[in-house]
Amino acid sequence: MSYIQFLGAAGTVTGSKHLLNSVNDETGRTGSQVLVDCGLFQGPKDWREKNWQDLPMNAKEIDAVILTHAHLDHCGWLPRLVSEGFKGPIYATPPTVDLCGIVLPDSAYLQEEDAAFHNKVKSSKHEPALPLYTVEDAEAALQQLKPVAIGENVQVTPDISFRFVRSAHILGAAMAEITMRADGHTRSLLFTGDIGRVRNSIIAPGKVVHSGPTEGESPDVLVMESTYGNREHPHDDPRPELAKLIRETVKRGGSVIVPAFAVERTQKFLFLLKELMEQQQIPNVPVFADSPMAIKAVEVFLKHTEEFSEETKQLMARYGSPMHWPNFHFATTAEESKKINDCKYPCIIVSSNGMCMGGRIQHHLALRLPDPRNLILFIGFQAVGTRGRQIKEGAREVKIYGNIIPVHAQVAALEQFSDHADTPELLEWLRTFRKVPAITHIVHGEPDAAQALKTAIQGKMRWNVAIASYKQKVALQ
Ligand SMILES: [Zn+2]
Repeated sequence: MSYIQFLGAAGTVTGSKHLLNSVNDETGRTGSQVLVDCGLFQGPKDWREKNWQDLPMNAKEIDAVILTHAHLDHCGWLPRLVSEGFKGPIYATPPTVDLCGIVLPDSAYLQEEDAAFHNKVKSSKHEPALPLYTVEDAEAALQQLKPVAIGENVQVTPDISFRFVRSAHILGAAMAEITMRADGHTRSLLFTGDIGRVRNSIIAPGKVVHSGPTEGESPDVLVMESTYGNREHPHDDPRPELAKLIRETVKRGGSVIVPAFAVERTQKFLFLLKELMEQQQIPNVPVFADSPMAIKAVEVFLKHTEEFSEETKQLMARYGSPMHWPNFHFATTAEESKKINDCKYPCIIVSSNGMCMGGRIQHHLALRLPDPRNLILFIGFQAVGTRGRQIKEGAREVKIYGNIIPVHAQVAALEQFSDHADTPELLEWLRTFRKVPAITHIVHGEPDAAQALKTAIQGKMRWNVAIASYKQKVALQ
C-alpha cells in the first residue's frame, strides 16, 4: 500500500516534511520514497527539539526531495538530511535554488554560532554542544540542488513524476503536482507548499511576485497549508497607516525597528519605503537593511525579474536597484551592523530574523525596546512560542541573550503584507478546482487554524477533509 507520512508541519506551521512512499507491502518491499520539502522546526522548544530526531527511515533510502520554496521552515533541514547520508537530487525552481544558496549557509552559520555560544557560557546539557549542521553540510546540500522550470515534467523514479506550478507565495515558490503509479493505480497529488495571495488583487498591495496560485487544479489527493485558516487579512491599503506610524515615530525622535525575513519580505518593504519617501509621505531618514545576506538577497531578487508582478516591474523601472538608493544602507558585516547602534538620529532598521528568534534583530531589540520613543513594527507572521509573538501580544518584558529587556517601545503590526492567502482567498482558490479531491489533508497550521479551515471547506464545499498529525501515515486508497 502506498502512503503519505507527515513528518512535520502537522500541528504546527514549521518543519514541513511530507514523505511519499509508492509501495510498502507485506513482503517488506519498499517502493520509491520522495520527500516533499525538508524544513526546519522553529518556535516552541518541544518542536525545535524534533530537529535533532532522526527520520523514521534511513536518509540514504530517500530517492529525491521536491522543494516548494526557500523559506527555512520548508528547506532548512536539508543540510541535516544530507549529513545523515541523503545523496539524491533536490528539485527546486531556479529562483529557489539561488535563494537556498543564501539561506542555507546562513542558517548553518547561525547553528554553528549558537553551538559556540553555548560552549562559551556552558549553557548546554551537551558537552560539547554541537551545531545541528555545519556550513560544510549546507554547501554539500547546495550541490544536490537541481533547477526545474515551472511546468517542466520530471521523472523522479520509475513510478513518481512531478511538475511545478506557481503558488505565488514568494520568489520562486511553487506547488508540486505529483503523479504516482502504484498498487495498480495512477494517482495525482498536489502539495501546495505555502499558498500566496489571490490573483492581482488590490487587497495585497506591494505584492512582489506573480499573484494568484495556479487555478483549475484537479488532484485526487490534496495536501494544503492552513497558516491563515482561521483569519481574514485586513482589506485596506496599509501604506497610509505605515506612513503615519513612521512619521509619528520620527517626530518623537525614535527609530523604527522592523523584524523581517531577509529574503523577499525585506526587499518588498524597501521598495515601499522608497515609494513613500519619493511621494514625501515619510521623511528621508536613513534606512538600514541589516542582514549578512542583505546584498546577496537583493542580487537574486533583481536577477529573476520574470517572477515580478506588474507593480514591482514599474517600481523597478522607476527607482532601479535598492543598492544605489541614497540613504539606504546594507550592513553585511558584523562591524557594519554594530555601527547602526551608533546612529543617534531616527532611522529605520529592517533586520532578520522575522520572528525575532535569532540573528541581528536581537541586538536591535535589546538596544531599542526599552525606549518609548521607538516603534517595533511587525509585518510578518509570528508563530506561537516565538519572541516576536510575545512582543506583538504585549509582553512587558522579553529575554534576549539571557537578559530581561523591558518593552517600553510602541508595538504595531500590519497584517496586509502577508504572503499567505487568508481563509476567503483559500476557499476562492479551491473553488477553481476542476474536480473535488477524494481527500484533502490539512497541514502547516496551528491547531485552531487547521480546524477552522477544515470546518470551512467541509461546510462550504462539502469536501472530504482531514487534519494531518505528526508522524501519521495515511494510506493512499
Ligand atoms: Zn513560506
